[in-house]
Amino acid sequence: MTISHPGVAKAPVPAQSTYQTRVADYWNAEQNPVNLELGRIDDLYHHHYGVGDVDWSVLDEMDPVRRRDVITAELHRLEHAQAELLAKHLGPLSPEDRVFDAGCGRGGGSVTANMRYQCHADGVTLSTKQADFANEQARARGIDGKVRYHHRNMLDTGFQTGGYAASWNNESTMYVELDLLFAEHSRLLRRGGRYVVITGCYNDTYGRASREVSLINAHYICDIHPRSAYFQAMAKHRLVPTHVEDLTAATIPYWELRKSADHLVTGVEDAFLTAYKNGSFQYLMIVADRV
Ligand code: SAH
Repeated sequence: MTISHPGVAKAPVPAQSTYQTRVADYWNAEQNPVNLELGRIDDLYHHHYGVGDVDWSVLDEMDPVRRRDVITAELHRLEHAQAELLAKHLGPLSPEDRVFDAGCGRGGGSVTANMRYQCHADGVTLSTKQADFANEQARARGIDGKVRYHHRNMLDTGFQTGGYAASWNNESTMYVELDLLFAEHSRLLRRGGRYVVITGCYNDTYGRASREVSLINAHYICDIHPRSAYFQAMAKHRLVPTHVEDLTAATIPYWELRKSADHLVTGVEDAFLTAYKNGSFQYLMIVADRV
């Protein structure tokens, strides 16, 4: 029997843990040029890294102002190529389909998916600032009827069960327990839906997290998972991999270029490069079907 006490406030249920509040604080305060200056080029704001070959001729530019601009543009090209690579694996999708962008940052991933498929998109982030910024961008593009950003916890979105044709995490899985995350993706995806993740993971063949992986964790207040953990947790939650791609070699050029971009470095570049090169860290894409 449930007894209600009119006038007695219900005990508050925390929507997010103290840890998640700290992560939100980080992203609410974040103003790194590497995230803002790149996005400003075409209003596609990505907070992830990049893939593909670098056009090294940008380093030949001797005029300091132009040099900064061409390096910034080249890094943005690579980060957008990463978003396109992910979006390509979400489809085919129709304009009626709905996609879920888990840990959406300033929103570039959902815009990329909408540009490709004209689909509906719901992005969620712990940061109110990011959600407000991304909604403003969607309004400016005239796609706010289809692309919406929400201040919500991706582990517990409250969105409609089975309402999504595709979903993804682009560099946001290291903030959460994978079991909880994949349970939510599995709930939201319709049967036959598609899930894609791009993430850094530590390499089980190296052993445990290396010094550099631990430095990356400390830098972002996150907890990078081992590669094996992804497949274990997916198998438990009806997500069956159909394509796995090791993007490590494809992302190293991005980091080499970023390291030489004095106006954009954040101090984490050496940790990434050393971790990728000593074999302790991998950049991975996993594409899975929701069965
Ligand atoms: N996917 C985006 C941003 C990656 S940055 C892009 O590719 O540009 C990491 C993002 O994960 C931030 O927006 C942060 O708010 C979000 N995040 C971390 N933990 C989260 C959680 N539990 N729920 C929702 N978002 C979360």
